[in-house]
Amino acid sequence: MAKIQMTTPLVEMDGDEMTRIIWQMIKDELLEPHIDLKTEYYDLGLEHRNATDDRVTVDSAEATKRLGVAVKCATITPNAARMDEYDLKQMWKSPNGTIRAILDGTVFRTPITVAGIEPCVRNWTKPTTIARHAYGDVYKNAEMRIPGPGTVELVYTAADGTETRELVHEFDGPGVAQGMHNLDASIESFARSCFEYALDLGQDIWFATKDTISKKYDHRFKDIFQEIYDAEYAARFEEAGIEYFYTLIDDAVARVMKADGGFIWACKNYDGDVMSDMVSSAFGSLAMMTSVLVSPQGYYEYEAAHGTVQRHYYKHLKGEETSTNSVATIFAWSGALRKRGELDGLDDLVAFADRLERATLDTIEAGEMTGDLALITTLPNPKKLSTRDFILAVAKRLEA
Ligand code: NAP
Ligand code: MG
Repeated sequence: MAKIQMTTPLVEMDGDEMTRIIWQMIKDELLEPHIDLKTEYYDLGLEHRNATDDRVTVDSAEATKRLGVAVKCATITPNAARMDEYDLKQMWKSPNGTIRAILDGTVFRTPITVAGIEPCVRNWTKPTTIARHAYGDVYKNAEMRIPGPGTVELVYTAADGTETRELVHEFDGPGVAQGMHNLDASIESFARSCFEYALDLGQDIWFATKDTISKKYDHRFKDIFQEIYDAEYAARFEEAGIEYFYTLIDDAVARVMKADGGFIWACKNYDGDVMSDMVSSAFGSLAMMTSVLVSPQGYYEYEAAHGTVQRHYYKHLKGEETSTNSVATIFAWSGALRKRGELDGLDDLVAFADRLERATLDTIEAGEMTGDLALITTLPNPKKLSTRDFILAVAKRLEA
């Protein structure tokens, strides 16, 4: 059979360790037999980032702005141990952080549901998508250990030199203090990405902060969302039959537990970090979650939400068999190929993405899965497959 043709290349961001091994297997066994795969390749593996002084990460993000759709493998964010392991010139920043700063987006994470892996929360019959703001707050904070009595203030010095001060606390003993910020422009693009994604999926969107306590900081988020909704989205939402719902974060958490899912939950940076791990674990595994960065300009970067699975990689290097779950990485590719197909009007590419996802889920539903899922499945007698054998089992179904 003739291979499916592509017109515009995907930006391909290769990565590290076990996910790099999985990456190549997916291309060899699942994609290239069926598609005349066109990609612009960027090697974000730590060695090449180090060799290019991390230029390759910036180049790959710039390429995403040019081509529109990227697919990214998990990458190492170096720490002290990695400095020695890879003999690094410096402790390069997180590639995800660099890419998000350039694309200025929001990360959407949705559990992948499959029969036989039941959510821990019984009434969660539909997956809930977490939309995580990816800029500022505690992730860009300034903090201080306060050694003893004294005054801590926030000081804003305007361009003309005038100062505005706000007392944080009069310390009469030791303690800690923290300063955080966010930007109207970033909150605005967060809001627009969320509203656009809700329209894309045809799902309601919830947003929550602690504006009753944080009357200026969190309230700014609430106001910006409401202003943009009223001015740009209210009519489109009504037409699409979907809702924007704002509430307090503690009320949202309580309601989420009682809801059946099927909506988007927009979260500030920290809330989204915490809640996406809670939601994915409740649906079975970190590897059973899709993740896509959507920029306000409509650029898309698909990835797996988990890391490079270092522990499994070291086993692999020792020649031991691994059973690493490749579902999130397969879905990163299918998501990117589907989006590319939609943008380029390639129906067969879109249909292939659907078939690849179906083949992956069918494999699990037939009882063939990796060890992480075999441990928790409700299916009788699951067959635990190795990393490679799971991908081959999907390939077999894809060909059938
Ligand atoms: P991790 O790679 O997510 O793995 C943590 C543990 O979760 C694994 O040891 C494994 O548990 C389980 N796990 C995660 N993904 C799995 C999969 N696909 N299949 C089966 N089990 C899976 O996190 P990490 O080990 O803390 O981090 C390793 C590296 O990844 C770090 O260098 C970090 O910087 C990087 N990282 C990258 C990204 C990204 O690029 N998006 C995100 C997070 C972390 P068991 O060992 O119990 O089997
Ligand atoms: Mg986290």
